[in-house]
Amino acid sequence: MTGNGDGKFNLCYTPSASVTPQAWVEFQTQAGQMWSVVDANGGLYSTATYSLNNISGTTNLGNVYANDGQSRAWHALDTLNKLWWNRGSTTNCWASSQQDGHCTPITIQWYPGSTDGTYWSTGEDKIHLADNDPDSEHTTAHEAGHALMGKLYHGWWPNVSNCSPHYVNRTSSTSCGWTEGFANAVAFHTFNDTTYYWGNGSSMNLANDRSTNGIDPGDACEARVATALVDLWSQVDGGWMKSNTMMTRTWQSSFREYFVNDRPEHGLDSGPTAQNILYNHTIQY
Ligand SMILES: [Zn+2]
Repeated sequence: MTGNGDGKFNLCYTPSASVTPQAWVEFQTQAGQMWSVVDANGGLYSTATYSLNNISGTTNLGNVYANDGQSRAWHALDTLNKLWWNRGSTTNCWASSQQDGHCTPITIQWYPGSTDGTYWSTGEDKIHLADNDPDSEHTTAHEAGHALMGKLYHGWWPNVSNCSPHYVNRTSSTSCGWTEGFANAVAFHTFNDTTYYWGNGSSMNLANDRSTNGIDPGDACEARVATALVDLWSQVDGGWMKSNTMMTRTWQSSFREYFVNDRPEHGLDSGPTAQNILYNHTIQY
C-alpha cells in the first residue's frame, strides 16, 4: 500500500492470471504489531470494500467506509497514529525500554454502548474505552499515555493514592498528580494544545499560570503537572525524547521525584529556567 497520506491509497497486487475474477480489500483494526482496537470478545473489527469483478488493470475502489457501528473503533485506531509518529522512542517500539523485535503493543478494547471505561489497567496492559470515548482524541491519547508510562517503567507502576475518581483541575495526591499529569501531558504533546476534550463534547482549557482560578495549585493537581511537563519538554529539553529515555532508567512516584531527584541525576536541567516554568504553574520545590 502506498500514497496513504490524505486518506487515499494505492494498493498493488500481482495477479496470477491476466484477469482476476473477483477481488476486494479487507481492513482490520490493527496497525502492524504495534497497536489494535478489539471488540468485547477481543477480536479485531474488520470492514471490506465491495467486491470487484473481472479486473485486468488499475481500478477504482471508490469511497471506503467503516461498517456500521465501527466508526469509533477506527477513530481510536487512527488517533494512535498521531502518538506513534512522535512517541519519543529511540527504538521501533513505543518506548526505548523495549528493543526492536521485542515490542509490546498498545491494545484498546471498545464496543458500541460500552460502559467499561475509561481506564488503562496495569496488569493486563489494556485500555478500556467506553462508548463515546473515541470521539475524544485526548481521551484515547491520555489512556495511551498510561500504557506508554507502563512500558517506559518496564511494567512497574507507582503506588497511587486518592485517584478514583480524579479531576483534571483538582487536587488529588502527588502520586495521582504524577501518573495522571503525565498522561495528560502525552495528550497535549501529541496534539500541541492545552485544551482537554471529552467524548461528550465538553472541554476545559488547562493553560494556566499563577493567576489562574479554577485550577488548584501545586503538584497534586494533574493539570499543573501536565502543563509544567510539556513546557519543560518544549522549552528546556528540546522535545520529550530525553525525558522519556530517563524514565526508562529511573522510575518516579511523583513530579517532585522526577524534577528534584531524577532530572539532575540524568543530565536534564532543573536549574533556574526549569524552576521558573514550574513556578509559573504554581509548583515550587
Ligand atoms: Zn488517566
